[in-house]
Amino acid sequence: MPEVPDVVIIGGGFAGLSAGVALAERELRVALFEGRQALGGRAYSFCDMESGDVVDNGQHLLMGCYHQTLDFLGKIGTRNRLIVQRNLEIQMLDGPGRQAHLRTASLPGPFHMTMGLMRYKHLNLADRLSAMWAGMRMMYMRRFARARLASMTVAEFMESTAQSSQARRTFWYPLTIATLNEQPALASAGLLAEVIKRAFFARRKDSALLYPTVGLSELYCDAARDFIEKRGGAVASRAIADGVEMRENMISAVRLRDGTNRRAANFIVAVPPIQLRRLLPQAIFGERGGAQLDTLKSSPIICVHVWLDREVTNSAFVGFVGTTTQWLFNKRRIFSQYGAQHPGYLSFIISGARELAELPNDALLKTIMTDLNEMIPAAKHARLIRSLVLKEKHATFAPDPASDAARPPVPTAIPNLFLAGDWIQTGLPATIESAVISGRSAAAAVIRRAGRN
Ligand SMILES: Cc1cc2nc3c(=O)[nH]c(=O)nc-3n(C[C@H](O)[C@H](O)[C@H](O)COP(=O)(O)OP(=O)(O)OC[C@H]3O[C@@H](n4cnc5c(N)ncnc54)[C@H](O)[C@@H]3O)c2cc1C
Repeated sequence: MPEVPDVVIIGGGFAGLSAGVALAERELRVALFEGRQALGGRAYSFCDMESGDVVDNGQHLLMGCYHQTLDFLGKIGTRNRLIVQRNLEIQMLDGPGRQAHLRTASLPGPFHMTMGLMRYKHLNLADRLSAMWAGMRMMYMRRFARARLASMTVAEFMESTAQSSQARRTFWYPLTIATLNEQPALASAGLLAEVIKRAFFARRKDSALLYPTVGLSELYCDAARDFIEKRGGAVASRAIADGVEMRENMISAVRLRDGTNRRAANFIVAVPPIQLRRLLPQAIFGERGGAQLDTLKSSPIICVHVWLDREVTNSAFVGFVGTTTQWLFNKRRIFSQYGAQHPGYLSFIISGARELAELPNDALLKTIMTDLNEMIPAAKHARLIRSLVLKEKHATFAPDPASDAARPPVPTAIPNLFLAGDWIQTGLPATIESAVISGRSAAAAVIRRAGRN
């Protein structure tokens, strides 16, 4: 651990680690403190003792438009641990055998997406044209009526553009819940517009999905730690920050639970809002800022991992339309190096799962298995060997218009204190890319302050 580091970072998720890597790259000495035993925060993996498989806390997908994340992974040398689709391709099942693919064409953007939508068989021609018009209207409002769009929910926007119930059910709502982790009646239309702009109205390769072929921790945690430590920094886990010391309107040190104080010239706090409120004195936020932070709610994601005695689909992932379960991920296909021994290892995701988060695990497993058997009848012949239900009750901040408006920026009223995390105002929903953008912005602010432009 450097005697007196240039920068102290609190939090070892995507935001804190990407900040640490950006600073270490510029030869600033970093001391990063993570409260838990392992790095990774809300995107981590572990070895399941019973099955011997690597398990993610929840399946994560990246997109080609995650430019900052891909650059971060490139710097730490793990970008090749992602499978990259050539074109966006999503299989959506609306009942047994009733499948349609949302598949972009090999055309320059945005025509790749226009063509993809025109070939999406869950919609009739009128719905396809109407969905396209709604997409363009959304882009128009994003540019010329931003404030109005930001105050609308996705459901209100769909109402105002007369989207049919079939277009909502099979296209708009699965897209909204998957990318914003919120129900359309609550989710901000402004945030959906940002996703659509970056993912669908940009270059063809920005629309493609990428998924890790290794556990999440193996994707970035160890490699980021090595990168920082090789450049004279240090990463400590089980190091809970309890508070800060102030001197002349600046942070002078962070107080750790073991009783030690760690001094530095600059501080980046990359923790979720609830922990931030506990860590920093109320005076730092001011009355208005504190109240704003309190309005930020969170939205859960449920992930159920299931081991069947056989493979029941050869697709890597499938969207379910009209069931409680939203996505199936076939881990055998995704985890290239571990999958072969466990052909029936599947992960199911339910996002925006506020109403389900308090249900017992047995009930959630039953729901998932009923939905699986309904959508893929071949699964009825498979035997369930093991299951694991993981509930992330605070998976992301709830991206409703009021919460989105309450997100703070990276700089604070304290000149040497910067915030990072997926919930900081980046213009994006709470995603890996938002976390990395905020982490790198905080690092850039520190670099400017340290005069290392
Ligand atoms: C189940 C699930 C599925 C998801 N799917 C996707 C997806 O498909 N695509 C996508 O882009 N995003 C997805 N996300 C969101 C993504 O995981 C997050 O946006 C991202 O991981 C947030 O990173 P972060 O660094 O901002 O915060 P965190 O990962 O929460 O990191 C904060 C860290 O700070 C530490 N900490 C907190 N308080 C203290 C303290 N006092 N002292 C020291 N350390 C402290 C915490 O332990 C934690 O490690 C998903 C999230 C979940 C939960």
